Amino acid sequence: MDAAEFRALWDGLSPIGRSKRGYERYSWTDADQQCRNWFRTQADKRGMEVETGRSGNIFAWWGSLSDGDAVLTGSHFDSVPHGGAFDGPLGIVSAFLAIDVLRRTGAKPRRPIGIVAFTEEEGGRFGVPCVGSRLMTGALDPDVARNLTDRDGITLAEAMEASAADPSILGVDRDRLANLGAFVELHIEQGRALDAEDAPVGVASAIWPHGRWRFTFTGEANHAGTTVMADRHDPMLTAAFMVLAARKEARIVGGIATVGRLDAEPGAANVIPGTVRAWLDARAPDEAVLGQIVDGIESKVVDRAERDRTRVAIEAESETPLVEFDAGLRDRIAELLGGVPILPTGAGHDAAVLAQHVPTAMLFVRNRTGVSHAPGEKADYEDCAAGADALAAVLRELAC
Ligand SMILES: [Zn+2]
Repeated sequence: MDAAEFRALWDGLSPIGRSKRGYERYSWTDADQQCRNWFRTQADKRGMEVETGRSGNIFAWWGSLSDGDAVLTGSHFDSVPHGGAFDGPLGIVSAFLAIDVLRRTGAKPRRPIGIVAFTEEEGGRFGVPCVGSRLMTGALDPDVARNLTDRDGITLAEAMEASAADPSILGVDRDRLANLGAFVELHIEQGRALDAEDAPVGVASAIWPHGRWRFTFTGEANHAGTTVMADRHDPMLTAAFMVLAARKEARIVGGIATVGRLDAEPGAANVIPGTVRAWLDARAPDEAVLGQIVDGIESKVVDRAERDRTRVAIEAESETPLVEFDAGLRDRIAELLGGVPILPTGAGHDAAVLAQHVPTAMLFVRNRTGVSHAPGEKADYEDCAAGADALAAVLRELAC
Protein backbone atom coordinates (compact mmCIF):
# COMPACT_ATOMS: atom_id res chain seq x y z
CA MET A 1 0.00 0.00 0.00
CA ASP A 2 1.25 3.50 -0.69
CA ALA A 3 0.94 6.63 1.42
CA ALA A 4 -1.80 8.03 -0.85
CA GLU A 5 -4.09 5.07 -0.18
CA PHE A 6 -3.58 5.52 3.55
CA ARG A 7 -4.31 9.23 3.34
CA ALA A 8 -7.45 8.76 1.31
CA LEU A 9 -9.07 6.94 4.24
CA TRP A 10 -7.28 8.85 7.00
CA ASP A 11 -8.36 12.27 5.75
CA GLY A 12 -12.03 11.32 6.04
CA LEU A 13 -11.73 10.65 9.76
CA SER A 14 -9.11 13.13 10.95
CA PRO A 15 -11.21 16.35 10.94
CA ILE A 16 -13.64 14.89 13.51
CA GLY A 17 -13.08 16.37 16.96
CA ARG A 18 -10.14 18.49 15.83
CA SER A 19 -9.75 22.02 17.18
CA LYS A 20 -7.01 24.60 17.17
CA ARG A 21 -5.69 23.17 20.42
CA GLY A 22 -5.57 19.57 19.26
CA TYR A 23 -8.16 16.81 19.46
CA GLU A 24 -11.09 16.83 21.83
CA ARG A 25 -12.67 13.53 20.97
CA TYR A 26 -14.44 12.29 24.06
CA SER A 27 -16.70 9.31 24.49
CA TRP A 28 -20.47 9.79 24.13
CA THR A 29 -20.22 13.23 22.52
CA ASP A 30 -21.07 14.49 19.04
CA ALA A 31 -17.50 13.82 17.92
CA ASP A 32 -17.79 10.24 19.16
CA GLN A 33 -21.07 9.79 17.26
CA GLN A 34 -19.43 11.09 14.09
CA CYS A 35 -16.55 8.64 14.55
CA ARG A 36 -19.03 5.78 15.03
CA ASN A 37 -20.88 6.86 11.90
CA TRP A 38 -17.60 6.87 9.99
CA PHE A 39 -16.93 3.35 11.34
CA ARG A 40 -20.37 2.13 10.19
CA THR A 41 -19.85 3.63 6.75
CA GLN A 42 -16.47 1.91 6.35
CA ALA A 43 -17.88 -1.40 7.52
CA ASP A 44 -20.87 -1.09 5.15
CA LYS A 45 -18.56 -0.36 2.22
CA ARG A 46 -16.73 -3.60 2.93
CA GLY A 47 -19.84 -5.63 3.59
CA MET A 48 -18.90 -6.10 7.24
CA GLU A 49 -21.63 -6.51 9.81
CA VAL A 50 -21.67 -3.90 12.57
CA GLU A 51 -22.78 -4.58 16.12
CA THR A 52 -22.28 -2.95 19.51
CA GLY A 53 -21.23 -5.00 22.47
CA ARG A 54 -22.51 -4.78 26.02
CA SER A 55 -19.78 -2.29 26.82
CA GLY A 56 -20.34 0.62 24.47
CA ASN A 57 -17.70 -0.69 22.05
CA ILE A 58 -18.48 -1.01 18.33
CA PHE A 59 -17.49 -4.00 16.17
CA ALA A 60 -17.43 -4.81 12.45
CA TRP A 61 -17.16 -8.45 11.31
CA TRP A 62 -15.87 -10.25 8.25
CA GLY A 63 -17.39 -13.63 8.99
CA SER A 64 -19.40 -14.33 12.10
CA LEU A 65 -18.10 -13.94 15.64
CA SER A 66 -20.26 -16.88 16.70
CA ASP A 67 -18.11 -19.20 14.58
CA GLY A 68 -15.51 -18.70 17.31
CA ASP A 69 -11.72 -18.41 17.44
CA ALA A 70 -12.08 -14.94 15.94
CA VAL A 71 -9.14 -12.63 15.28
CA LEU A 72 -9.94 -9.12 16.50
CA THR A 73 -8.03 -5.96 15.66
CA GLY A 74 -8.69 -2.27 16.25
CA SER A 75 -8.11 0.43 18.84
CA HIS A 76 -9.99 3.51 20.07
CA PHE A 77 -11.32 6.81 18.71
CA ASP A 78 -11.23 8.90 21.89
CA SER A 79 -8.42 11.32 22.69
CA VAL A 80 -6.95 12.87 25.79
CA PRO A 81 -7.82 16.58 26.15
CA HIS A 82 -5.95 18.43 23.38
CA GLY A 83 -4.54 15.15 22.11
CA GLY A 84 -2.96 14.05 18.87
CA ALA A 85 -4.51 12.56 15.75
CA PHE A 86 -2.89 9.14 15.73
CA ASP A 87 -3.21 7.62 19.22
CA GLY A 88 -6.12 5.25 18.73
CA PRO A 89 -7.56 6.17 15.31
CA LEU A 90 -4.45 4.88 13.53
CA GLY A 91 -5.28 1.35 14.70
CA ILE A 92 -8.85 1.57 13.39
CA VAL A 93 -8.02 3.12 10.01
CA SER A 94 -5.19 0.59 9.55
CA ALA A 95 -7.58 -2.24 10.35
CA PHE A 96 -9.99 -1.27 7.53
CA LEU A 97 -7.03 -0.83 5.15
CA ALA A 98 -5.65 -4.24 6.14
CA ILE A 99 -9.02 -5.75 5.22
CA ASP A 100 -8.72 -4.03 1.81
CA VAL A 101 -5.26 -5.53 1.30
CA LEU A 102 -6.55 -9.02 2.17
CA ARG A 103 -9.57 -8.60 -0.11
CA ARG A 104 -7.63 -7.57 -3.17
CA THR A 105 -5.15 -10.40 -2.74
CA GLY A 106 -8.09 -12.81 -2.68
CA ALA A 107 -7.60 -13.94 0.93
CA LYS A 108 -10.32 -16.22 2.32
CA PRO A 109 -10.47 -16.07 6.12
CA ARG A 110 -10.96 -19.42 7.86
CA ARG A 111 -11.44 -17.55 11.15
CA PRO A 112 -13.76 -14.53 11.57
CA ILE A 113 -11.93 -11.20 11.47
CA GLY A 114 -13.30 -8.32 13.53
CA ILE A 115 -12.52 -4.63 13.89
CA VAL A 116 -13.26 -2.93 17.19
CA ALA A 117 -13.38 0.66 18.37
CA PHE A 118 -13.17 0.57 22.16
CA THR A 119 -14.91 3.35 24.07
CA GLU A 120 -13.26 5.70 26.62
CA GLU A 121 -9.76 4.23 26.35
CA GLU A 122 -8.01 7.38 27.50
CA GLY A 123 -10.28 8.23 30.40
CA GLY A 124 -10.32 11.74 28.93
CA ARG A 125 -13.92 12.33 29.88
CA PHE A 126 -14.71 10.05 32.83
CA GLY A 127 -11.26 9.77 34.40
CA VAL A 128 -10.87 5.98 34.21
CA PRO A 129 -8.90 4.51 31.30
CA CYS A 130 -9.95 1.52 29.18
CA VAL A 131 -13.59 1.66 30.30
CA GLY A 132 -14.86 -0.26 27.25
CA SER A 133 -12.36 -3.11 27.40
CA ARG A 134 -12.54 -3.34 31.19
CA LEU A 135 -16.31 -3.57 31.13
CA MET A 136 -16.18 -6.21 28.39
CA THR A 137 -13.73 -8.37 30.35
CA GLY A 138 -15.37 -7.85 33.74
CA ALA A 139 -12.47 -5.81 35.14
CA LEU A 140 -14.76 -2.83 35.78
CA ASP A 141 -18.02 -3.14 37.70
CA PRO A 142 -20.91 -1.84 35.55
CA ASP A 143 -22.45 0.07 38.48
CA VAL A 144 -19.16 1.81 39.13
CA ALA A 145 -18.90 2.60 35.41
CA ARG A 146 -22.44 3.99 35.15
CA ASN A 147 -21.74 6.37 38.04
CA LEU A 148 -18.44 7.74 36.75
CA THR A 149 -18.77 11.50 36.26
CA ASP A 150 -17.17 13.95 33.87
CA ARG A 151 -16.02 17.45 34.80
CA ASP A 152 -19.56 18.79 34.47
CA GLY A 153 -20.96 16.17 36.81
CA ILE A 154 -22.63 14.20 34.01
CA THR A 155 -22.55 10.47 34.70
CA LEU A 156 -21.52 7.91 32.11
CA ALA A 157 -25.07 6.57 32.22
CA GLU A 158 -26.51 10.02 31.45
CA ALA A 159 -23.96 10.57 28.68
CA MET A 160 -24.89 7.24 27.07
CA GLU A 161 -28.60 8.06 27.26
CA ALA A 162 -27.95 11.44 25.64
CA SER A 163 -26.34 9.50 22.77
CA ALA A 164 -29.37 7.18 22.50
CA ALA A 165 -27.40 4.27 24.01
CA ASP A 166 -28.73 2.09 26.82
CA PRO A 167 -26.48 2.10 29.91
CA SER A 168 -28.43 -0.76 31.51
CA ILE A 169 -26.82 -3.25 29.11
CA LEU A 170 -23.31 -2.52 30.39
CA GLY A 171 -21.51 -5.55 31.74
CA VAL A 172 -19.06 -8.36 31.17
CA ASP A 173 -19.38 -9.89 27.72
CA ARG A 174 -18.38 -13.52 28.38
CA ASP A 175 -19.76 -14.95 25.12
CA ARG A 176 -17.77 -12.48 23.09
CA LEU A 177 -14.58 -13.20 25.02
CA ALA A 178 -15.11 -16.92 24.60
CA ASN A 179 -15.36 -16.48 20.82
CA LEU A 180 -12.11 -14.52 20.51
CA GLY A 181 -8.94 -16.39 19.58
CA ALA A 182 -6.56 -13.44 19.31
CA PHE A 183 -6.42 -9.65 19.57
CA VAL A 184 -3.91 -7.50 17.70
CA GLU A 185 -3.82 -3.73 18.29
CA LEU A 186 -1.83 -1.47 15.98
CA HIS A 187 -0.81 1.81 17.64
CA ILE A 188 1.47 4.76 17.05
CA GLU A 189 4.64 4.39 19.12
CA GLN A 190 4.70 6.79 22.07
CA GLY A 191 8.46 7.13 22.17
CA ARG A 192 11.39 7.13 19.75
CA ALA A 193 12.71 3.58 19.97
CA LEU A 194 11.69 2.68 16.40
CA ASP A 195 13.25 5.85 15.05
CA ALA A 196 16.50 4.93 16.80
CA GLU A 197 16.34 1.48 15.16
CA ASP A 198 15.40 2.98 11.79
CA ALA A 199 12.35 0.72 11.57
CA PRO A 200 8.82 1.82 10.53
CA VAL A 201 7.10 -0.98 12.47
CA GLY A 202 7.78 -2.89 15.69
CA VAL A 203 6.14 -5.40 18.01
CA ALA A 204 5.41 -4.87 21.72
CA SER A 205 7.02 -7.09 24.35
CA ALA A 206 5.32 -5.79 27.50
CA ILE A 207 3.50 -2.86 29.06
CA TRP A 208 4.93 -1.43 32.26
CA PRO A 209 2.68 -1.69 35.31
CA HIS A 210 0.99 1.66 35.88
CA GLY A 211 -1.79 3.38 37.72
CA ARG A 212 -3.63 6.56 38.64
CA TRP A 213 -4.03 7.81 42.18
CA ARG A 214 -6.25 10.68 43.29
CA PHE A 215 -4.86 12.77 46.15
CA THR A 216 -7.39 14.93 47.99
CA PHE A 217 -5.80 17.60 50.15
CA THR A 218 -8.12 19.34 52.61
CA GLY A 219 -7.45 22.51 54.55
CA GLU A 220 -9.46 25.62 55.27
CA ALA A 221 -10.69 28.10 52.67
CA ASN A 222 -10.00 31.65 53.77
CA HIS A 223 -9.28 35.20 52.64
CA ALA A 224 -5.96 35.52 50.78
CA GLY A 225 -5.46 39.08 51.98
CA THR A 226 -6.41 38.96 55.65
CA THR A 227 -5.38 35.47 56.83
CA VAL A 228 -1.89 35.74 58.27
CA MET A 229 0.52 33.02 57.23
CA ALA A 230 0.65 31.44 60.69
CA ASP A 231 -3.11 30.85 60.71
CA ARG A 232 -3.38 29.12 57.34
CA HIS A 233 -4.29 25.54 56.53
CA ASP A 234 -3.36 25.72 52.85
CA PRO A 235 -3.74 22.41 50.99
CA MET A 236 -2.10 23.89 47.88
CA LEU A 237 1.23 23.78 49.71
CA THR A 238 0.87 20.07 50.41
CA ALA A 239 -0.23 19.47 46.81
CA ALA A 240 2.77 21.40 45.50
CA PHE A 241 5.05 19.34 47.70
CA MET A 242 3.43 16.17 46.34
CA VAL A 243 4.22 17.21 42.75
CA LEU A 244 7.89 17.59 43.60
CA ALA A 245 7.96 14.42 45.71
CA ALA A 246 6.49 12.44 42.80
CA ARG A 247 9.29 13.46 40.51
CA LYS A 248 11.96 12.72 43.08
CA GLU A 249 10.63 9.30 44.14
CA ALA A 250 10.27 8.18 40.52
CA ARG A 251 13.70 9.42 39.51
CA ILE A 252 15.43 7.64 42.39
CA VAL A 253 14.14 4.19 41.37
CA GLY A 254 14.01 4.54 37.57
CA GLY A 255 10.25 4.92 37.14
CA ILE A 256 8.01 7.65 35.78
CA ALA A 257 5.59 9.89 37.68
CA THR A 258 3.44 12.77 36.46
CA VAL A 259 0.88 15.10 37.98
CA GLY A 260 -1.05 16.32 34.96
CA ARG A 261 -4.21 17.50 36.63
CA LEU A 262 -4.81 19.68 39.67
CA ASP A 263 -8.19 21.11 40.76
CA ALA A 264 -8.47 23.75 43.46
CA GLU A 265 -11.69 24.65 45.27
CA PRO A 266 -13.14 27.20 45.26
CA GLY A 267 -10.57 28.08 42.59
CA ALA A 268 -10.38 31.85 43.03
CA ALA A 269 -7.15 33.84 42.91
CA ASN A 270 -7.92 35.68 46.16
CA VAL A 271 -9.02 32.67 48.21
CA ILE A 272 -6.79 30.15 49.99
CA PRO A 273 -8.20 26.86 48.65
CA GLY A 274 -10.18 24.62 50.96
CA THR A 275 -9.60 21.52 48.89
CA VAL A 276 -7.07 20.58 46.22
CA ARG A 277 -7.26 17.41 44.18
CA ALA A 278 -4.26 16.14 42.27
CA TRP A 279 -3.95 13.09 40.04
CA LEU A 280 -0.76 11.06 40.08
CA ASP A 281 0.10 8.88 37.09
CA ALA A 282 2.98 6.52 37.88
CA ARG A 283 4.65 3.77 35.83
CA ALA A 284 7.63 1.50 36.38
CA PRO A 285 9.42 -1.52 34.88
CA ASP A 286 7.96 -3.81 37.56
CA GLU A 287 5.32 -3.77 40.26
CA ALA A 288 7.74 -3.64 43.19
CA VAL A 289 9.30 -0.45 41.85
CA LEU A 290 5.87 1.05 41.17
CA GLY A 291 4.85 0.27 44.76
CA GLN A 292 8.03 1.90 46.03
CA ILE A 293 7.25 5.11 44.14
CA VAL A 294 3.68 5.41 45.39
CA ASP A 295 4.54 4.41 48.98
CA GLY A 296 7.44 6.85 48.99
CA ILE A 297 5.25 9.73 47.84
CA GLU A 298 2.55 8.81 50.33
CA SER A 299 4.79 8.75 53.38
CA LYS A 300 6.45 12.04 52.47
CA VAL A 301 3.13 13.73 51.74
CA VAL A 302 1.51 12.53 54.98
CA ASP A 303 4.47 14.02 56.82
CA ARG A 304 4.19 17.27 54.96
CA ALA A 305 0.42 17.51 55.57
CA GLU A 306 1.09 17.46 59.28
CA ARG A 307 3.42 20.42 58.93
CA ASP A 308 0.93 22.28 56.72
CA ARG A 309 -1.92 21.40 59.11
CA THR A 310 -3.85 19.89 56.23
CA ARG A 311 -5.23 16.40 55.60
CA VAL A 312 -4.60 14.07 52.71
CA ALA A 313 -6.63 11.12 51.42
CA ILE A 314 -5.25 8.90 48.66
CA GLU A 315 -7.42 6.73 46.45
CA ALA A 316 -6.25 4.43 43.66
CA GLU A 317 -8.47 5.09 40.63
CA SER A 318 -6.89 2.40 38.50
CA GLU A 319 -3.99 0.00 38.77
CA THR A 320 -2.75 -2.16 35.94
CA PRO A 321 -0.17 -4.86 36.59
CA LEU A 322 2.76 -5.68 34.31
CA VAL A 323 1.43 -7.09 31.04
CA GLU A 324 3.67 -9.39 29.07
CA PHE A 325 2.19 -10.07 25.68
CA ASP A 326 1.82 -13.66 24.50
CA ALA A 327 5.42 -14.67 23.76
CA GLY A 328 4.54 -17.18 21.03
CA LEU A 329 2.35 -14.71 19.16
CA ARG A 330 4.87 -11.90 19.61
CA ASP A 331 7.78 -13.94 18.24
CA ARG A 332 5.70 -15.34 15.39
CA ILE A 333 4.70 -11.81 14.32
CA ALA A 334 8.21 -10.38 14.67
CA GLU A 335 9.56 -13.17 12.48
CA LEU A 336 6.73 -12.86 9.96
CA LEU A 337 7.53 -9.16 9.58
CA GLY A 338 11.19 -9.86 8.91
CA GLY A 339 12.66 -9.54 12.37
CA VAL A 340 11.24 -6.15 13.34
CA PRO A 341 12.24 -4.65 16.73
CA ILE A 342 10.51 -5.91 19.88
CA LEU A 343 10.02 -3.18 22.48
CA PRO A 344 8.34 -2.50 25.83
CA THR A 345 6.15 0.54 26.45
CA GLY A 346 5.14 2.66 29.39
CA ALA A 347 1.71 3.39 27.91
CA GLY A 348 -1.49 1.54 28.81
CA HIS A 349 -3.74 0.12 26.10
CA ASP A 350 -6.93 -1.89 25.66
CA ALA A 351 -4.55 -4.62 24.47
CA ALA A 352 -3.24 -4.86 28.04
CA VAL A 353 -6.77 -5.51 29.29
CA LEU A 354 -7.54 -8.07 26.56
CA ALA A 355 -4.19 -9.81 27.15
CA GLN A 356 -5.50 -11.15 30.47
CA HIS A 357 -8.07 -13.21 28.54
CA VAL A 358 -6.96 -13.69 24.93
CA PRO A 359 -3.56 -14.16 23.23
CA THR A 360 -2.77 -10.55 22.39
CA ALA A 361 -0.13 -8.67 20.43
CA MET A 362 0.60 -5.06 19.58
CA LEU A 363 2.20 -3.50 16.53
CA PHE A 364 3.82 -0.08 16.82
CA VAL A 365 4.25 2.43 14.00
CA ARG A 366 7.24 4.78 14.13
CA ASN A 367 6.76 8.23 15.65
CA ARG A 368 9.80 10.26 14.68
CA THR A 369 9.51 12.89 17.41
CA GLY A 370 8.12 10.59 20.09
CA VAL A 371 5.47 13.24 20.91
CA SER A 372 2.17 11.70 22.00
CA HIS A 373 -0.96 12.83 23.88
CA ALA A 374 -0.31 16.27 22.35
CA PRO A 375 -1.15 17.98 19.05
CA GLY A 376 2.39 17.40 17.71
CA GLU A 377 1.88 13.61 17.62
CA LYS A 378 2.77 12.47 14.10
CA ALA A 379 3.61 9.40 12.05
CA ASP A 380 4.82 9.64 8.44
CA TYR A 381 2.13 8.51 6.00
CA GLU A 382 4.63 6.09 4.41
CA ASP A 383 5.11 4.49 7.82
CA CYS A 384 1.34 4.34 8.37
CA ALA A 385 1.00 2.52 5.05
CA ALA A 386 3.77 0.12 6.11
CA GLY A 387 1.86 -0.42 9.35
CA ALA A 388 -1.35 -1.29 7.52
CA ASP A 389 0.58 -3.73 5.32
CA ALA A 390 2.13 -5.31 8.41
CA LEU A 391 -1.29 -5.65 10.03
CA ALA A 392 -2.63 -7.26 6.84
CA ALA A 393 0.25 -9.75 6.91
CA VAL A 394 -0.51 -10.58 10.55
CA LEU A 395 -4.23 -11.05 9.89
CA ARG A 396 -3.45 -13.27 6.89
CA GLU A 397 -1.06 -15.34 8.99
CA LEU A 398 -3.52 -15.75 11.86
CA ALA A 399 -6.88 -15.93 10.11
CA CYS A 400 -6.49 -17.03 6.48
ZN1 LIG B 1 -4.09 4.73 22.52
